[in-house]
Amino acid sequence: MPETRIVHAADDEMKDAVRAACALLRAGEIAALPTETVYGLAADALNPAAVAKVFAAKQRPSFDPLIVHIASRGDLKTVAIVPDDIVETVNQLTTAFWPGPLTLILPKHPDVPDLVTSGLSTVAVRQSAHPVFRAINKELGKPIAAPSANRFGRISPTSASAVMKELGGRIPLIVDAGACSEGVESTIISIEPRAGKKPVFHLHRAGPVTKEQLQDYGKVEKVREKPGDLPHAPGQLPSHYAPLTPLVLLEKPEDFKPEPGKKYGLLSYRGEDDGAYITLHDWETVESLSPGSGKLAEAAIRLFFVMRLLDEAGLDAIIAEPVSETGLGVAIMDRLRRASANR
Ligand code: AMP
Ligand code: MG
Repeated sequence: MPETRIVHAADDEMKDAVRAACALLRAGEIAALPTETVYGLAADALNPAAVAKVFAAKQRPSFDPLIVHIASRGDLKTVAIVPDDIVETVNQLTTAFWPGPLTLILPKHPDVPDLVTSGLSTVAVRQSAHPVFRAINKELGKPIAAPSANRFGRISPTSASAVMKELGGRIPLIVDAGACSEGVESTIISIEPRAGKKPVFHLHRAGPVTKEQLQDYGKVEKVREKPGDLPHAPGQLPSHYAPLTPLVLLEKPEDFKPEPGKKYGLLSYRGEDDGAYITLHDWETVESLSPGSGKLAEAAIRLFFVMRLLDEAGLDAIIAEPVSETGLGVAIMDRLRRASANR
């Protein structure tokens, strides 16, 4: 593999970046692209050989299906077959949340290669809101398969430099459009119709579109995970989003038992508030999820960036302070629990 090239997609350079990415994608190659959630590793979703390169670069197991991104709502019919009994709900959801970080699991169109969906009869699909991603999707004129641009199981990248650390030397191009505006991966749901009632939304992955927002359109139920199950959404594998340094999500401060001579860093949420973990120990390093006043929204944007900083700080363990488990906090706690799961 040649060196990984970075092209910038700032205003006046956007056209060149779009052209460079499309040329590669048309040639059956892969490229890392910015989205509003995290950076994605993109391939032409209808080209199985190109999709295979995504799995290879990420070292992603073939049982972990990819999300397909479409340029417009009208393109939905090219990748999915929407059953009559959920057409209205799909229209409501896509009107409310697309383009944006909501992924719908729908029956797959036969044109979508089995490799994309790991042989499932369903396809996960969304329309990204990122201007650069949208421009590339539109110019390419094809759906784009794009999982997060990290090696399998590792921390998702929210900047071009993070992609470089994960996949540098393994992919030909990174389109750099700065930091991602959401910072955590899309919300994933499937839809179960109910006669005469609002549908049930099965929540496969918590994300930026919250349960509270979805409740206007249906009843939200978290998909239950049974140990040993093949993942219904492998982002939901027990250990995922993991730094190399052990991370402990410390639900109760009294459970912290530091070992002498070990270096601990704090992933702080509550900063200097009363009872916050900052006073619990003489931390080697402290990184704050929400140093401003943005609280959960700010914490989501910074989560993977701060995890990466702490991972590079030469610590024996990262201690994470819990965030409130409402709204966006559900997605953040989901990522922290998986990052802290035993490997
Ligand atoms: P990533 O893009 O890296 O966040 O990964 C895509 C996520 O979408 C993974 O967690 C997949 O398991 C999930 N996904 C993709 N297709 C499907 C599908 N047909 N059914 C359930 N989950 C899916
Ligand atoms: Mg991922």
